[in-house]
Amino acid sequence: MLKHDYMQVSQDQPIYSEAPLQLLLFVDGRPKSRQQVQRIRTYLKALQAEYKFELQIIDVGQQPYLAEHFKLVATPALIKIHPEPRQILAGSNIIAQLKTWWPRWQTAVDTYLKLQEDITERIDENGRVSSSKSTINSIAVSAELMRLSDEIFRLKQEQDKLQEQIQFKDRVIAILAHDLRNPLTAVAIAIETLQSNYNPETGDFERLKPAMTAHLLKQARSQTKIIDRMIADLLQVGRSNDIELPIIPQKTDLGQLCLSVLEELRDRYTAKLLEIETDIPKDLPSVYADPERIRQVLVNLLDNAIKYTPKGGKISLAGLHRTTQKVQFSVGDNGPGIPVENRDRIFENHYRLQRDEGTEGYGIGLCLCQRIIRAHYGQIWVDSAPNGGAWFHFTLPVYPS
Ligand code: ADP
Repeated sequence: MLKHDYMQVSQDQPIYSEAPLQLLLFVDGRPKSRQQVQRIRTYLKALQAEYKFELQIIDVGQQPYLAEHFKLVATPALIKIHPEPRQILAGSNIIAQLKTWWPRWQTAVDTYLKLQEDITERIDENGRVSSSKSTINSIAVSAELMRLSDEIFRLKQEQDKLQEQIQFKDRVIAILAHDLRNPLTAVAIAIETLQSNYNPETGDFERLKPAMTAHLLKQARSQTKIIDRMIADLLQVGRSNDIELPIIPQKTDLGQLCLSVLEELRDRYTAKLLEIETDIPKDLPSVYADPERIRQVLVNLLDNAIKYTPKGGKISLAGLHRTTQKVQFSVGDNGPGIPVENRDRIFENHYRLQRDEGTEGYGIGLCLCQRIIRAHYGQIWVDSAPNGGAWFHFTLPVYPS
């Protein structure tokens, strides 16, 4: 609500003013303008002692819609809102301008009062009662209207965003529910085959060669991992973006972690006949990181490299002791790469290159990677590999020795 010099103003108490001269002083919270505002206020106080007028002080920081309403470009600013026409004094010499205008404003008030008298007389002749609602009141009302319409606009935007999120979640859940069937069916077939050939008395899998038994067990295991990954994605989609990621950092051997992730994804890259090249120095220092979270980053980056690199391509992994405090880790491929103009955007939530719309995915993996790396005070970015593919890099803090 407006800060008022004379009257106690509350949300449900409209302002009725008696003074015909009504001024608004717009101020801001900058230390630089504090002194100037103080001088103007003191000057106005002195004027008030001799001449009755109404003054309201408005902090633009608290009521930006009012500044918008008066199309103000600078503060402090003094506005005469009544009698009309409205007049704005702004700049560094408001007091000097006021000195010039003050007598003219008083003349304007006299003219106004004279006119009012004439009108009142006429109204009285017609037997009607005149009302003296002030301009400030109507401004307070219109400011409230502007605030409310701002609020409606903001709520509408929020609603659109929520609607979009719900639609996205529905879509992802539908895709995942559908996709989950494939690995589930594969596990079910593997287990059913093993079960139907199992002889509980001998403990053997009859009619199944040992190599086949081993293959079915491996199949069941790897498909379960895929299901696990999909459920992790599902949970990620279900979570809000803004929730802090819990990080439990500890001394972590990044090279070791990377090899274990590679092992886990072996079926996937061998199926695509991809060559894997690793360059992880033996003396790469340990990092101070949450191994489970960094595992997620490596899985996501490698998963993308496998997904977007054509059959027979190559994936490279490299570790680098970049500075005394930082280790840099890179995952590259010789796939289609990321166009320069999209290199920041691919880390946004739900963002996917149009080119890849036909490939499975939800556009959340890289966003998650960025959140994890940032939570470790590291950086993540992409550029192009020498052979044209994508080259993702991230940094992590070295574990202090
Ligand atoms: P998703 O792969 O599920 O779509 P991501 O967030 O992991 O989501 O990746 C965002 C987008 O970045 C992908 O849709 C793809 O267009 C592009 N992208 C990510 N990794 C690669 C890569 N290694 N090569 C080419 N494009 C990639």
